[in-house]
Amino acid sequence: MINIVLFGPPGAGKGTQSENLIKQFGLKHISTGDLFRKHLGEGTELGQKARSFMDNGKLVPDEVVIGMVEDFLQANTDAKGFIFDGFPRTVAQAEALDDLLSSHNTAIGCMLMLDVPQDELKKRLLERGKTSGRVDDQNEEKINVRIQEYLNKTLPVAAFYEKQDKTCKINGVGTIESIFADISAAVASHMA
Ligand code: AMP
Repeated sequence: MINIVLFGPPGAGKGTQSENLIKQFGLKHISTGDLFRKHLGEGTELGQKARSFMDNGKLVPDEVVIGMVEDFLQANTDAKGFIFDGFPRTVAQAEALDDLLSSHNTAIGCMLMLDVPQDELKKRLLERGKTSGRVDDQNEEKINVRIQEYLNKTLPVAAFYEKQDKTCKINGVGTIESIFADISAAVASHMA
């Protein structure tokens, strides 16, 4: 069993590379952004709580996100392992995840950090916005807020995993295939 955190700024390619990881390693994927969008679409109470934050490119409060992840883990106790995509995004979330996994007798195996320069991120997000239908991808101001949230609140999560010696930096610029080759080599080395 291995649990992986796929880490990186918005537009780094986490969703795309998650799909490859699921296929290759048979892990259960949890994207907190996708889960929130599902709740928004279904008009649930949780979706209502998240809406204004998401619309403005801000992070949803920790307790809302952590509760949602806890429910997901509880509903998937038969999984071989998890890919956490877009979570944790604050140090409080990373600490809560360690506690949650330890209560399921498991832990994070490695944190893969996709490294992509800022100007490339903006280009990718605006391009994705043309087809994704995501309002937060279509407006440069919102993209800037999301990148700022990443730099202020999410980047410290990298140090959290570095302290645990679990960080593995991956160059996130190149072809999808070449980036995935680096990712799968890193995962395989942690599984050995
Ligand atoms: P994403 O699809 O990962 O880019 O997430 C879209 C939006 O969902 C983010 O801009 C946040 O508003 C919210 N969100 C997703 N994951 C988290 C998280 N782990 N913590 C806080 N907010 C989140």
